[in-house]
Amino acid sequence: MANIILLGPPGAGKGTQAKRLVEERAMVQLSTGDMLREAKTSGTEMGKRVAEVMDKGQLVTDDIVIGLIAEKLSQPSAGGFIFDGFPRTLPQADALADLLASHGQSLDAVIELVVDDAALMGRIVRRAEEMQAKGQPVRRDDTPEVFELRLREFYKNTAPLIGYYWAKKDLRQVDGMAEMDVVAAAIAKVLDKA
Ligand code: AMP
Repeated sequence: MANIILLGPPGAGKGTQAKRLVEERAMVQLSTGDMLREAKTSGTEMGKRVAEVMDKGQLVTDDIVIGLIAEKLSQPSAGGFIFDGFPRTLPQADALADLLASHGQSLDAVIELVVDDAALMGRIVRRAEEMQAKGQPVRRDDTPEVFELRLREFYKNTAPLIGYYWAKKDLRQVDGMAEMDVVAAAIAKVLDKA
């Protein structure tokens, strides 16, 4: 079993790869983005505040996401946890280490999906255009405008985690621009060594 973080900018394919790992390795995916989208639809006061922040492409406060993760860590996870979209700030990274330690666990690897930002931006624009052409709704924070803001948040707050985990010798880099199956194989290789 392994506890891993999938790290990378929005649109890098973290969620897609996490879902494969859930199916193939009985791991448990903990996506703060999914949890927040659920809170958003709940209609609670917290949900409304969260919606405003998410729709602007900004980050929700550390307290909220740390609380969401803390609630989930007591569940059994035969294959280990996949942290998808968490941590996104250094305080979140510290909180995760403390939370895992308090459950007698630790982090086995941080897998960075390395991408080409310009190509990623192109992918997002094309996807939004395709959805619009088909009359399908585009996720509110997946429009090219908000995507750009989310990318900016990534570089401002989350990219420092790459250096942090590298210095801790936890970082493993995988080419996130490769075909989905090739990315999955590269991740599997990291996990088999963890
Ligand atoms: P995601 O689906 O991971 O791209 O997350 C969608 C949105 O949820 C982000 O743009 C943020 O507004 C919010 N969010 C998700 N995870 C976090 C986190 N760990 N810290 C702060 N905000 C988050």
